[in-house]
Amino acid sequence: MLYLDNYSFADKTALVRVDFNVPLKENNGSFEITDDTRLKAALPTLKKILSDGGKIVLMSHLGRPKNEGEYEQEGKGENKFSLRHIVGYLKEHLNTEVKFVEDAGSNEAVEASKELEKGEVLLLENVRFYKAETKTNQENHTDFAKKLARLGDVYVNDAFGTAHRKHASTATVADFFDKENRVCGYVMQKELENAQKVLGNPERPFVAIMGGAKISDKIMVIEKLLDKVDSLIIGGGMAYTFFKAEGGNIGSSLVEEDKLSLASELLKKAEAKNVKIHLPKDSIAADKFDNNATTKEVNNKEIPDGFMGLDIGKEAQEEFSNVLKNAKTIMWNGPMGVFEMSNFAKGTQKIGEVVVEATQNGAYSLIGGGDSAAAINQMNAGDKVSYVSTGGGALLEYLEGKELPGVVALEK
Ligand code: AMP
Repeated sequence: MLYLDNYSFADKTALVRVDFNVPLKENNGSFEITDDTRLKAALPTLKKILSDGGKIVLMSHLGRPKNEGEYEQEGKGENKFSLRHIVGYLKEHLNTEVKFVEDAGSNEAVEASKELEKGEVLLLENVRFYKAETKTNQENHTDFAKKLARLGDVYVNDAFGTAHRKHASTATVADFFDKENRVCGYVMQKELENAQKVLGNPERPFVAIMGGAKISDKIMVIEKLLDKVDSLIIGGGMAYTFFKAEGGNIGSSLVEEDKLSLASELLKKAEAKNVKIHLPKDSIAADKFDNNATTKEVNNKEIPDGFMGLDIGKEAQEEFSNVLKNAKTIMWNGPMGVFEMSNFAKGTQKIGEVVVEATQNGAYSLIGGGDSAAAINQMNAGDKVSYVSTGGGALLEYLEGKELPGVVALEK
C-alpha cells in the first residue's frame, strides 16, 4: 500500500475521498456544523497535499439522503444534505480558495478541476445524490466512477468510515488509476494501524468491552474476539438476551428472542476458549423508556415485570472496573446503557473513566467509533485514550476479519 508520506503531490491534482459526513443544524436558513471531528481529522491529509504544491478535488457523502440518488434529476438533492455548507469551514481551516460544483459527474466539474491553481481546493456536491454512487449493480455505476476519475491525476482514499462500502467514490473509482497513483490517506492509515494493534499481537491481558443495543449487529465481531481476548465484558441492551437465554426474568428489557440460543452458544464457546465473560450482575431498571422514569436497582436475573434495564448497576460497574484496571489492551465498542439520557449514562461514564485511568497506567485503548466515540467525546476524554476510531461499522467489519472494499481498492 502506498502511503501519503511516500508520495509527492507537486503539480498533481489529487482526487480525495474524505468522510465529511458531519451533523448539521439549521439556523434561520443557514446550516451550522455541530461536530467537526471528521473535518478536523481530514485536515492533515489535505494540508500535506497542498503544502507539497498540489491541488485537491474533494468528494464525500453527507447524511443519508432518503431516496438516495432517486431525485428527478441525478445529482440534485435536499439542501440539508448539501456539502455546500462545509465550504466556509474548509476555507477557514485550509486558508485557501475552495470552489464548489453541484454536479460531480459533469463536464463543468472537469473544467473546474483543470482550472484549479496550485494550493486550491474544489469540493464536489454530495456523491450520494447519485444513484450510481451506491448501486454497484447499475450499469452507470462504473461510468460514474470513470467520470469521477477524470477529476484527478492521483486518487487518495481517506474515508475509513465508508471503507466497508463498495461505492463509486470509495472503491470503483480506484480502478481507473495505476497502482502508483492510489494512495492511503493519514486517517485511513491511522485507523488500520490501530486496528492492527488489537488484531496483531496485543499485550495481555486483552479486554474487550461490547455494549449497545443488539447482539445481532455485533455477533460476528464477538465471535472473532473470542479468539483474541482474555476477557469480554458485555453491557448495554444486548446483555439481557444472555440473561433470558440463561432462564432469568428480564422484565421488559430489550431482548432479541431469535438470538437466545445464539447467546447460549456464545457463552459455551467462550468457556471452551478459556475467555472469561463478564455480564452485568445488576441494572438500573426503569418503568418506562424515559429519563424521568421511576427507577430501581435490580438483579439482572430478577427484573420485575414492567421494568426494563437501561443502565448497568453499581455491582457491575465495580466488577467491570476491576477487570479493566488490570488490562494492558482494551477495545471498547458500544455504550453500557441508554447514555443519551443523563439518568442512564452513569455506567458508560464510569467505564470511560476507568478506560482513561488504565490508559494513564500504560494500557493501549482503542475506542470503536459510533456511540462509544460519542460517549468518550462527551466526557472530553477523547485525547486521554490511545485512539478513537472515526469509523463504527467499518472498524467492526475490519475486526471481524472482513476485507474492506475501500482498502482492497488501494492494495490490489
Ligand atoms: P449500538 O448502535 O448497537 O452501539 O447501540 C447504541 C444504542 O444502544 C444507544 O442508542 C443506546 O441508547 C442503546 N442502548 C444501550 N443500552 C440499552 C438498554 N439497556 N436498553 C435499550 N437501549 C440501550
